[in-house]
Amino acid sequence: MRSLVTGAAGFIGSHLTEELRSRGHDVLAVDSFTEYYDPDRKRENARDLEVLELDLETGDVDRLIGGVDRVFHLAGQPGVRASFGAGFELYVRRNVLVTSRVFEAAAGQNVRVAYASSSSIYGDAESYPTPEDATPRPISPYGVTKLCCEHLAYAYARTAGLDAVGLRYFTVYGPRQRPDMAFTRMLEALASGSAFPLYGDGSASRSFTFVDDAVTGTIAAMERGAAGSIYNIGGGEEAAMTDVFTLAERVSGRQLQLDRHPVAAGDVRRTRADGTQASAQLGWVASTPLAEGLEEQWNWVAERAMSRTSVPLSRPLDVDR
Ligand code: NAD
Repeated sequence: MRSLVTGAAGFIGSHLTEELRSRGHDVLAVDSFTEYYDPDRKRENARDLEVLELDLETGDVDRLIGGVDRVFHLAGQPGVRASFGAGFELYVRRNVLVTSRVFEAAAGQNVRVAYASSSSIYGDAESYPTPEDATPRPISPYGVTKLCCEHLAYAYARTAGLDAVGLRYFTVYGPRQRPDMAFTRMLEALASGSAFPLYGDGSASRSFTFVDDAVTGTIAAMERGAAGSIYNIGGGEEAAMTDVFTLAERVSGRQLQLDRHPVAAGDVRRTRADGTQASAQLGWVASTPLAEGLEEQWNWVAERAMSRTSVPLSRPLDVDR
């Protein structure tokens, strides 16, 4: 069984590649090391992974998929805030266009795809916990591109027999989390003694999902998910950012300084995954307690900070996705 992992030098993709290899699977790992955040971080993630550098927007995707039995498509342009304005074009290219190329090639060669969608497709959801059949109404251009990928999967399934399973990730965290995401920014601020830029009053809450859980959920969906299905891949615990601050101060033994800003456009107030469908059909539930996962991420941040003269904090905060 040979798997292609796209976005393999990224946060979730690098953990997925490692886990598949540790289970004895043959993995073709691909990434284009985009500049969305410092590519050196991606090279650090990919250090032991033998990642082929290839841009799926222009590369020979047919050939790539011709050599594998299944595709984990995680490559994309993440982040809510940068998707407004001029940034949108990159989101359309790296999410919508690239995903259509992957689906087209996979459908043509009867290869199953598990692809990354996002809890962002729910926007301010109509109910909590949010089940997969809730009406999608994203409030960010990023969320719109992810919803578009889900609709593309349906279109290619209906017209070309694509076998695809969608993964709606809910705010994934853990070692190697992207530097634009809140936990990394917060823990790096604790490590360096700088202030953490908080957007909003800290009452916004999320189904935070530890990366190891996200990875096992992804593999379970690939192996047991029904064709055409979409699953919430979300942590069972919902926590407000203020609760996270308390936990982070406890695990780091330091006090967090806040630099307060108004709520940012595109940030939803709340996410909470309904895990019923993933539990019933995949036998998967997120099992890592927030305090435990946060401690693992803190250990990673602290270790990196100690091996450098300064912790780089160069991009605006992005709470999730
Ligand atoms: P990431 O940015 O760390 O990883 C994505 C990787 O894709 C990057 O390494 C990037 O270089 C690569 N990439 C982008 N465009 C490419 C292209 N054209 N060709 C080849 N490689 C390309 O992001 P992540 O946090 O690991 O997220 C992985 C996926 O999950 C993304 O699709 C993201 O939208 C989705 N997602 C993530 C979260 C989260 O909490 N991290 C939540 C919801 C959805």
